[in-house]
Amino acid sequence: MDDAVARDMEDVEGLVEHYDAVVLGAGVSGLVSASVLGAQGCGRLLLVDEYAHVGGNHIDWSSGGYTFDIGSLIFQDDSPLLAHFPELLPRYVPIDPSWARLNPQRKVTAYPISPRDDVLAAGLWVLICIAASVIYARLFQRQMRNARDFARYWIGGYLLHRTGLESYMKRFYGVPAEQIDIELARKRMLWISENASLRAFVARLRKPKGGAPTNRQLARPKEGFSTLYAAAVDRLSASGVTFRLSTRLEGIERSGQGFRVRFADGTISARRVISTIPLDRAAALCGINFGEAELETITLVSLYFSFSGERGFRESILYNFSHEGAWKRLTVYSDFYGPADGREYFAVEVIADHIGHSAAQAEADFRAHVRLNGLFDGDLKLEGSQMLANAYPIYRNGAAARAAALVDSLRQFGVESFGRQGAFNYQPTARVSTHEAEAALGASRSAL
Ligand SMILES: Cc1cc2nc3c(=O)[nH]c(=O)nc-3n(C[C@H](O)[C@H](O)[C@H](O)COP(=O)(O)OP(=O)(O)OC[C@H]3O[C@@H](n4cnc5c(N)ncnc54)[C@H](O)[C@@H]3O)c2cc1C
Repeated sequence: MDDAVARDMEDVEGLVEHYDAVVLGAGVSGLVSASVLGAQGCGRLLLVDEYAHVGGNHIDWSSGGYTFDIGSLIFQDDSPLLAHFPELLPRYVPIDPSWARLNPQRKVTAYPISPRDDVLAAGLWVLICIAASVIYARLFQRQMRNARDFARYWIGGYLLHRTGLESYMKRFYGVPAEQIDIELARKRMLWISENASLRAFVARLRKPKGGAPTNRQLARPKEGFSTLYAAAVDRLSASGVTFRLSTRLEGIERSGQGFRVRFADGTISARRVISTIPLDRAAALCGINFGEAELETITLVSLYFSFSGERGFRESILYNFSHEGAWKRLTVYSDFYGPADGREYFAVEVIADHIGHSAAQAEADFRAHVRLNGLFDGDLKLEGSQMLANAYPIYRNGAAARAAALVDSLRQFGVESFGRQGAFNYQPTARVSTHEAEAALGASRSAL
C-alpha cells in the first residue's frame, strides 16, 4: 500500500491495520485468490471467513468411526488446485468410485442413461413411441425457452419421462425444469446433446460403461477436510497471509484510493477487496441496493446413515432418477474408507424445499422409497444430518442476468467478485473454481 493511502485511512479511522488486499471467503476460490495474489507480489494479505474452517463448502461430518461429506465430494490428481497447493496431493485418499442410477422402472442401471435398459429393453411399441417423439421434437419443437425444452428437443418428451431425467432435473435444479433459464441448460446440459446423436448412441451400445478416466479419483482424508486444507493454510501463512476466521463482516466503505472493512471487533484498511462470498451479502456490505428480487439458492439437507445387511446395488454413488422419492443422490463412504464397527455408511442429499426443510421428513421419505425399491435390506440407522444454505444457485426468472448486474455494480464500487457464491456461478468442481479465480485475477500459470 502506498503511503498516501495509508495516511488517508489513518486520518479517518485512527490507527488501523493495513493490507494490500483482503479476500472475503476462504473456500477454494478464496484460497486460490490468496495464492495468485501472493505470486503477483501482493505482500500483506488478509483472508476472511465467517466459518471457523477454511475450504468453504467442502464440509465433512464424523461420529463414532463414521465419516461423511455434505455432498458427493470427489477430486482428481490432475486438478489445477494442486499447482497452488502441491502438499494436498499426498493427503487425499485414492478411490475407485462407480456411478449408477435408479431408473423409474426400479432398475439400478447406467448413469446418466442406458441405451440398453432405457431404450432397447422397453419393447417394440415403446421404441416406436420414443422414435416418434424424437422426430416430432426435432421437427416441431425447435423453440427452446427453458431446460425442459432443451432436453426434450434432444431426446424427445417420451424418453425424457421414461429415463427419469425430467424427475432428476427437478431434484438437481431445485425447481421444475420448465422454470430453469435456457442459458443454464445450454451451459450445464451439453452432455445431453453430446449423447443424443445417433453416433453416440451406437458407441454407448458397444461400450456401455464409457472410457475409464485417465486421472486418479481422490477423496479427502478420513480425518476430514481440516487435515487436507491445513496444508494450504501452512503454505499461505508461511508466505505472510493472515487468516481471520469465525469473523463477522459489518461493512465495506471506500476510503481514499482504498477501502475500510469493518468487522464486529475492529476495522482494517485495504487497497483491494476480492469477494467470493454470496453476491447479495457483498452488495449489502457495500451499501449497494440490489432491488426486491432475491437471488435464490438451494438449501441442501444431508442425511447420514449407517447400515448392516444386503445392499441392492454395488456402485458407490447412486442417483435417484425414479419419479418418486425426494432424495437426489447417495454416496457410500464406507466404499472409500472401509466399514466402521462392521457397518457400511453413506450420505444422502435432499433439496430442503422438497421436504419442508425437515430432516425428519427427508428421512421418512428416503426410508419409504428405498424400501419400495429394495435398495437396503437390513438395519438402517440415521447417525446424523446437516443443513447447508447457499449450496447451489437456482437459475430462474433471469437470475443469471441479475447476478451479472450485481457483479458489475460491485466492480464499479471497486470490489472484484467471483466464484461460486461471488458470481452466483454454478461451479461443479474445485477445478472450475480454480480456473475461474485464476482468470479473474489475470494469473499466469508459469508464475505459480
Ligand atoms: C454439495 C456440493 C458438492 C460438491 N461436489 C464437488 C466435487 O465432487 N468435486 C469438487 O471438486 N468440488 C465439489 N464441490 C465444490 C464446489 O463445486 C466448488 O469448487 C466450491 O465449493 C466453490 O468454492 P468457493 O470458494 O467459490 O465457494 P464456497 O466454498 O461456498 O466458499 C464461500 C465462502 O464464503 C464464506 N462466507 C459466506 N458469507 C460470508 C460472510 N458474510 N463473511 C465471511 N465469509 C462468508 C463461506 O463461509 C465460505 O467459506 C461441491 C460443492 C457442494 C456444495
